[in-house]
Amino acid sequence: MVRGLITYSLVDGVPDVKDTGPSHRPEHLETSMATTSFVRGPWTPLELTAPLDGLLHGSAGTLTSLDPATGEVVATVSEASTADADAAVAAARHAFETSRWRNDGALRARVLHRWTESMRAASGRLAELLTREQGKTLGQAHGEVAGAINMIDYNAGQARALYGRSLALSPTAHGVVLREPVGVVAAITPWNYPLNLTIRAVAPALAAGNAVVVKPASLTPAIVVAALHLLAADPELPEGILTAVAGPGSSVGDRLVTHPDVDMIAFTGDSVTGIRIMKRAADDLKKVSLELGGKSPNVVFADAPWDKALAGAANAVFSAAGQICTAGSRLLVAESIAERFVAELAERTTAMRVGDGLDPSVAMGPLVSAGQLRTVLEYVDIAKADGTVLVGGERLTSDGLADGNFVAPTIVTDLDPSSRLLSEEVFGPVLAVQTFADEDEAIALANSTSFGLAAGLWTADVDRAWRVGRAIRSGTIWINTYHHFYAEMEVGGFGQSGLGRQQGVEGLLEFTETKHLNFDHAPTLF
Ligand code: NAD
Repeated sequence: MVRGLITYSLVDGVPDVKDTGPSHRPEHLETSMATTSFVRGPWTPLELTAPLDGLLHGSAGTLTSLDPATGEVVATVSEASTADADAAVAAARHAFETSRWRNDGALRARVLHRWTESMRAASGRLAELLTREQGKTLGQAHGEVAGAINMIDYNAGQARALYGRSLALSPTAHGVVLREPVGVVAAITPWNYPLNLTIRAVAPALAAGNAVVVKPASLTPAIVVAALHLLAADPELPEGILTAVAGPGSSVGDRLVTHPDVDMIAFTGDSVTGIRIMKRAADDLKKVSLELGGKSPNVVFADAPWDKALAGAANAVFSAAGQICTAGSRLLVAESIAERFVAELAERTTAMRVGDGLDPSVAMGPLVSAGQLRTVLEYVDIAKADGTVLVGGERLTSDGLADGNFVAPTIVTDLDPSSRLLSEEVFGPVLAVQTFADEDEAIALANSTSFGLAAGLWTADVDRAWRVGRAIRSGTIWINTYHHFYAEMEVGGFGQSGLGRQQGVEGLLEFTETKHLNFDHAPTLF
């Protein structure tokens, strides 16, 4: 039954992971400096050509994804035109209107559960493809695949539990409130956690009975298309319920946003893009959910669990080379411990091994593209002008890294309070350090940006964790941990970090409309 990835030529020997625990759990970064005998295996580029069991609409040539560690071709994927986007939407609309999908929760649960099985069977190969296409370490890629499977599994269960409510309104009237699918959902997703963030929208949207058109980021289409193909090959999935179009956001993405037959846009990406999409979608009052950027504070109090907080501070900002929307890119440290804490963090950071994500001794891989490398190096220049670069602050090209997009993990102190490094998202491994005198100042600094996606608090005082956790305006507050995500728990942003929530029950309900059926049993109207 399952075709597609299973037959692709991927390097053997990568262990599969079991689907357990949190939805994704970026690895901790303490990795041995010991040299290894790592040798990069051979690779035959994947060719993902439309229609792939009706999944892919693309007649405008091919997109090529490059390995950010070496510049080698990883895959080619059929590229869509705006006419292909129209065809994908038409197929989705037809399937939504005519198939059993929206009215059969048991069917949806069955199909989604089978997707977890095919994903699990392919997980080792998916993880390798993810590392080769996106750059993150293989350990982190395994975590992302396991998280995606976990997300499907959770939503497969929810497909049979989409309960409404009922109320007796008077002796002769009652109301029933139902949750119905929105209709055709366009999921437009980014390149940093391409698998997880696509499935985080697709799984609940399908579980709720919608038809979905996916537009992956142009830098990482292959991992998304390969994983979706495992579902598209299921014989019980009605044709057209899941389609994908790969292509530029400005044309193909915009076509989905403005298409009259698309009912909802589920967007994850940059805040500027999100604002643009919301304006464009307003013309026909589409529903939008927006998961956007961040500049998250990681607040370390003097009574923090020391070693855990040190590991957490590094993991928060350097995991996936800082290309995480929730990256703890602002470290706020209590003045009384700042000197020692930052010195130990700098030591730990200097010891991190940067290199090819397939090398098991590497703690941090490359940035996703040459363009992202340029952007991050521009912020490094700002850091040099506005503060003191304590560690890093350079592109890495020696020891076989010249063909990749590698940058050293960087810590910056003494920043001018007006520096852009304190308010703008870098999306790279650059940590800005600030100190605070007391709790009030910590809260004020934490809330000093236009974002509100996530924050970390490190303290042994549960009362303080409660007080400060309530005072910081952001969608997730991690206490004595960081970057732990659970399919059951909502994520999302305050302020310019977004609108609506993903994951958990609220994440599922985003993909529904509420309908009230009102019954009157009286013999006459008045
Ligand atoms: P991006 O906004 O450039 O692109 C995201 C997606 O939108 C891509 O598929 C792109 O092709 C598409 N797109 C671009 N312009 C469009 C347009 N005008 N109309 C329709 N679609 C368009 O973001 P990116 O560079 O891929 O990802 C990085 C950003 O994503 C960062 O800002 C990061 O913080 C954010 N992000 C947020 C979350 C979250 O959950 N809040 C998660 C991951 C990434």
